[in-house]
Amino acid sequence: MNDSNCIFCKIATGEIPAKVVAESKHAIAFHDISPAQPVHVLVIPREHHSNVAELSFADPEALVDLMQLGSRIAAEHTTGAFRFTFNTGAEAGQTVFHAHGHVLSKNPKIQID
Ligand code: 5GP
Ligand code: ZN
Repeated sequence: MNDSNCIFCKIATGEIPAKVVAESKHAIAFHDISPAQPVHVLVIPREHHSNVAELSFADPEALVDLMQLGSRIAAEHTTGAFRFTFNTGAEAGQTVFHAHGHVLSKNPKIQID
């Protein structure tokens, strides 16, 4: 179920645009609107869960799918050096209360055409 007031639910349904990088059965990945590092992709579950801890208990299959999507993006977009972080709780820096992982890297993979 989705939350009508949640910005990431609106991105998941396409109501609000985002630069989508990849999708999977349970998750969507898109570029962070305000990148903190050269690679900064957010990975969210399609369904609304307030944070990663809740997601882990409510839908572990979706969490594994989300982790695999983020890991695949990291392999494709970085040299292999990256962080995959989940801020959980306002005091820990969470500002959007729809579970999301940040794939962050200072080491983008250089594409040679
Ligand atoms: P948090 O601080 O909750 O861990 O991360 C929320 C992230 O979502 C921030 O890095 C912020 O830049 C990003 N963000 C917030 N609103 C939007 C949006 O509308 N579109 C995109 N692409 N990113 C957003
Ligand atoms: Zn949501």
